[in-house]
Amino acid sequence: MTAPNIDDVAAGLRLLPSIDEVLRTHAAQELAREAGAARLTDIARAAAEGIRAELAAGESAGHTTRKAILTEIEQRMIAAWKNENTAAQRRVINATGVIVHTNLGRAPLSDAAKQAMLDAAGYCTLEYDLKTGKRGKRGGRAESLLAELTGAEAALIVNNCASAAYLVLTVLASGGEAIISRGELVEIGGDFRIPDVLAQTGTTLREVGTTNRTKLKDYENAVNENTRMVLRVHPSNYRVVGFTAAPTLWDLAKLARSKGLVLYEDAGSGALINLNEYTLSDEPVINMSIRNGADIVTFSGDKLLGASQAGLIVGRKDLIERLRKHPLYRVLRADKLVYAALEATLGSYRRGNAFDEVPVLKMLAMTKEEIEARAKNLVAKLEGSGLRVELIHGESAIGGGAAPDVQPETMLIALEAPGLSADALEEKLRLSNPPVIARIEHDRVVIDLRTVREDEENELAALLSRIDIR
Ligand SMILES: *Cc1c(COP(=O)(O)O)cnc(C)c1O
Repeated sequence: MTAPNIDDVAAGLRLLPSIDEVLRTHAAQELAREAGAARLTDIARAAAEGIRAELAAGESAGHTTRKAILTEIEQRMIAAWKNENTAAQRRVINATGVIVHTNLGRAPLSDAAKQAMLDAAGYCTLEYDLKTGKRGKRGGRAESLLAELTGAEAALIVNNCASAAYLVLTVLASGGEAIISRGELVEIGGDFRIPDVLAQTGTTLREVGTTNRTKLKDYENAVNENTRMVLRVHPSNYRVVGFTAAPTLWDLAKLARSKGLVLYEDAGSGALINLNEYTLSDEPVINMSIRNGADIVTFSGDKLLGASQAGLIVGRKDLIERLRKHPLYRVLRADKLVYAALEATLGSYRRGNAFDEVPVLKMLAMTKEEIEARAKNLVAKLEGSGLRVELIHGESAIGGGAAPDVQPETMLIALEAPGLSADALEEKLRLSNPPVIARIEHDRVVIDLRTVREDEENELAALLSRIDIR
């Protein structure tokens, strides 16, 4: 490498504009409205400093006039701001066909839930009783709906299912032992490991059985004077198939009752209504768990139930009240927006309209024929776009750690752009506005309309037609 010519470097550096000059450029004035003056000054400094360092290293890269340098700084500021915004949380079109997509925000909310959240965003009756004008019960309505829909005596709501498990174990098992089958000691996505949670709560894990087979006798033999709880954890996104055995919840309930233990089921996703018709027969239906004798059941608000992030706890009234009175409940309690979304979503279930109103269930129930009709409609709008389009048979997914072996049939739109690799096309979609998140299958970008809202179709078609495919 040859050393830069000192005279050239000095001449180049003299061309550098001041930050004030940079801030007076048209680009800076435009950006200031979005970024604010303080942030923009930082961005301008960073852009100017980048150029200064390049000039000092003798890399003028053609920026040999003051105007060229200023233009380059403007472009870098625009790029920096755009880059910063890409990292912001924003709406995306989920074209992956994964219904409860953890990375894309799990369950999309129903219209009623969105409206309820908006209404609650201002002042609301979170802890206010309109009849008496006095303090009311926080989340009372959502809790009573939840109890009613699950057939449980009582319910309690916290931030997510992980905190629900943490609360239940802390209050009902800490200092003692909880018995769990080795077949249920799994890690669920998002770093949730039940043995770690147990350890945190000061509960001793008593493992019984083997990975594939655990018998009632195994549980029975593990009971001692320190045992507080029998714990059943739904293995969610993990399946042991073949030579397997586990006692029924009913049998565990009988055992727990006879020994004075609490039977706690962490159902994970769980379902409020039977989804057997959609072959989700492995998902615990919460009211069946209650009927089969679980004392406490926890599940997530934003998985198959289709509402916002929440940890839902249902079960025996005496136990629920112990959870409510514990200081940890205050630490884990949910926000008013969560109650709003839950109340509205549970309202859809109660009216018997969940399959029409709750997006997760609507998407689950969508037939391949319906998706094909929508796909044909969208493909027609892509004529003249230059994209090569083909409808192919494929599979959607449930996601969110539920039913890993259930893959509803779907009709995919496979896309190819003449001059682009599948990766490059996928990236262009991902970086478009709004971002479209698609999958790649056999070297082609595929779009699954199961998870695309019908009112997003025109936007998606327009966006695909506009894609620069050279
Ligand atoms: C998903 C899941 C959790 C964690 O739920 P979050 O609502 O994400 O905290 C806990 N237990 C089981 C069995 C799960 O499937």
